[in-house]
Amino acid sequence: MRMDQGLLPKRKKTKQIHVGKVAIGGDAPVSIQSMTTTKTADVEGTLAQIYQLAGAGADLVRCTCNSPEAASGLAQIIPRSPVPIIADVHFHYEMALAAIDAGVDGLRLNPGNLRKPEEIKLVAHEAKDHSIPIRIGVNAGSLHPDLLKRYGRPTPEALVESARNELDMLEEVGFEDIKISVKASNVSLMISAYRLASETFDYPLHLGVTEAGPPPSGIIKTTAGIATLLAEGIGDTIRYSLTADPVEEARAGRTLLEAMGLRRRRSVDLIACPSCGRAEVDVIAIAKAAEAELAKRSIPLQVAVMGCVVNGPGEAKGADLGIAAGRHRGHLFIRGKVVRVVPEEDMVVALVNEAEKLMKEGVEARLAAADTRAEELAEEDARSARGA
Ligand code: SF4
Repeated sequence: MRMDQGLLPKRKKTKQIHVGKVAIGGDAPVSIQSMTTTKTADVEGTLAQIYQLAGAGADLVRCTCNSPEAASGLAQIIPRSPVPIIADVHFHYEMALAAIDAGVDGLRLNPGNLRKPEEIKLVAHEAKDHSIPIRIGVNAGSLHPDLLKRYGRPTPEALVESARNELDMLEEVGFEDIKISVKASNVSLMISAYRLASETFDYPLHLGVTEAGPPPSGIIKTTAGIATLLAEGIGDTIRYSLTADPVEEARAGRTLLEAMGLRRRRSVDLIACPSCGRAEVDVIAIAKAAEAELAKRSIPLQVAVMGCVVNGPGEAKGADLGIAAGRHRGHLFIRGKVVRVVPEEDMVVALVNEAEKLMKEGVEARLAAADTRAEELAEEDARSARGA
């Protein structure tokens, strides 16, 4: 499987923090976040969504904490969650304190609507006592009114200054367990704000295009923003804010990081040509069906489906498995070698069967290596027992 991670510039090394068991910043892998859409007081419904998000690739999940009922829901959700839970807090510092009492792993505070220094410092004191990190979550849509007045509109400088002001309050009470976001729905504003934030702070940055809207445009806008920054080495954790089932957010985040070689692949990477007048098989149908079947089986291989000899042999050879099609049939490649010719109607089944075999061989090879190592260790133990 090809990994292109080495081609990206080095990521900026930020201060490392931990949200529960997940490390963020430093040399930790870029993590994926999403947010539940259920009422947090609905414990079973929220937990079901958290499990779906974790299954789709989310490392961290945020839940709103906007009422005492939500806080008491959090207290029941957190011990049963497969991933760390972050409480999203706006307007009411008491909700941050309630979330800390509920055992939350992280807090997100919005400097635009939680403004009283004494309240922010009180939350920081409590968070420090419980080793809970805080995200300073600046958002262009809820910028502090003073900054909005001074700058006239949300600008990169205004967003970063908002984060700076909140940061000063937290640092004043010795709190440094911090990550920062400066989100905007405008992609170029978001990119500029994060570039400035990266120059200004050494804390980890949480990237996102806020209120990106429904897919596919929401995914395109978010990818434009996040991928641009990641390609410059900026960003430690990401969220796609889509107007959609949040499972799509987690999937999109995972797909982007895998595509950029920033996370280990755990699902298929399908390379397929767009097809054109030269193709003499139905490339689109074969590629779609192969991707769906391989995704169902969580097969993390690179598979190529190519319509003709123009780019077909090159791509099929470079992938773990590939088809380079001709007239209603194609050459099947396994790890760079042609193994047989497959008729068009059998291509999907052939790819799935061979992928399953490759996965099985990989597991068997790993087990055999583990057995050999266990034998070596047993021999070493026996030798040292004999005083050799
Ligand atoms: S590989 Fe062949 S069929 Fe596919 S787009 Fe290129 S030229 Fe067309």
